[in-house]
Amino acid sequence: MRLPIRARLTAWYVLLLAVTLGAVGAFVVLRLKADLQRDIDRSEESSVAEIAAGYRAEGNKEFYDVSGTVLRILPVGTSGAQLLDPSGKVLLTYGNGVAQQPMLGRNAQRRALAGAHLHQSVSLGPRGEPFRVFVVPVVRSGKTRLLVVAKSLADVNRSADRVIVLLLLGGGAALVLTAAGGWWLAGKTLRPVARMTSQAQRIGIDRLDDRVPVPRASDELSELARTLNGMLDRLQRGVEEKHRLVADTSHELRTPLAVMRSELDVALMEPDLTAEARAVLVSSREEVERMSRTVENLLTLAGVDEGRLELLHRPVELSDLAERVARSLQPVAESKGVSIEVAGGARPVAGDRDRLQQVLANLVQNAVTHSDRGSSVKVRVWENGGDAGATVSDEGPGIPASAQPHVFERFYRVDGAGSRDNGGSGLGLAICREIVLAHGGRIELESHEGRGSAFSFSIPASQV
Ligand code: ADP
Repeated sequence: MRLPIRARLTAWYVLLLAVTLGAVGAFVVLRLKADLQRDIDRSEESSVAEIAAGYRAEGNKEFYDVSGTVLRILPVGTSGAQLLDPSGKVLLTYGNGVAQQPMLGRNAQRRALAGAHLHQSVSLGPRGEPFRVFVVPVVRSGKTRLLVVAKSLADVNRSADRVIVLLLLGGGAALVLTAAGGWWLAGKTLRPVARMTSQAQRIGIDRLDDRVPVPRASDELSELARTLNGMLDRLQRGVEEKHRLVADTSHELRTPLAVMRSELDVALMEPDLTAEARAVLVSSREEVERMSRTVENLLTLAGVDEGRLELLHRPVELSDLAERVARSLQPVAESKGVSIEVAGGARPVAGDRDRLQQVLANLVQNAVTHSDRGSSVKVRVWENGGDAGATVSDEGPGIPASAQPHVFERFYRVDGAGSRDNGGSGLGLAICREIVLAHGGRIELESHEGRGSAFSFSIPASQV
């Protein structure tokens, strides 16, 4: 699982501080121990020098006296002195506990006998307490002895332990503070990114003139925001060019198609046409009709995309429109053996007559297209509260539940490219939706496979 950047940054801050504190802490503790140990070594050297001087001058008696004087100042049990013969046997001893056993290993004894002055850290006593021992060879009356002095390291270790505890407490607190500070800082740093993300998520193909916010500081994030906005500029230009192309092309096609339609109508008026010729002309007329509708749809969509779907609000009688649409589609319906029935009524709505007619025509055209011979298409005009609307229902094959949420999308066709044979380009219902939405209304579909479909739209009371 990838953690969010904020959590990762915080974890890194904490980890880096922990490593730094660990390294600094280890250095401080080691340094402290070394310094304190060096002080003990120095004091041992001077103690040994004093005891050795006394022993050399007076023998055993002076060893006790000087050892007593030199070492008594130290707490009981924390120091001791010994005199060993070359075989390692303890000849004299001063101090309780620790000095009762040989304080030095054989190896160190051998090196000391060879003349070395040795410092060593050892564990002494029944509980193995840490001691620092110092050994030097002394010669008295021609006999070589080893003089060993031991001082406890307990204080040194206690001091080091105290520093370690302080470092752990202080370090722990520093880590908690750093985690909180890092979390806050990372959140503050990333806040502009969150703002850009939520704004970028809102920008869709229909909101291409929106831009992501540019943070005030001129840093990498503002550079990113400017880059994103530059990309949106280019996208917007591209999309606008595409819209213009569609609009211009559709516009160019409109007039020749109208001319062709009129010419075909004139040709069809000729009484002496053979049946074959008439069939060809009727079929051509239908094709031209279909192309005109597609061009009209494209022009309307281009208008919607450019934000200039101009609506002329005038009182419109929906039942009047329904009658007109039924009349104009009667020939197509008849040729398919489908009847169109108009029923109901409603008070006038304030809307764009041509656009609302376009909606009804698309819905009725679809219903006729998907109806079987002998069935009927019903257009019912109604009002509900302040809303006025119309429902176009057919007895066709219906629309599968999986396709229903998509039928109002552009270029969506239920049975894929196959429905092009029915004259569709997948734009009709998208247009209907745009027009109805522009009127502040709603459009919906109720369909059961095998039992037909019913498309309803309504214009709200405020528009009436
Ligand atoms: P087209 O212009 O291709 O008909 P539409 O946007 O009008 O596109 O319709 C989208 C899809 O919904 C088409 O594939 C069409 O087959 C299907 N459709 C629309 N109306 C009906 C209906 N009354 N009965 C069954 N299918 C329909």
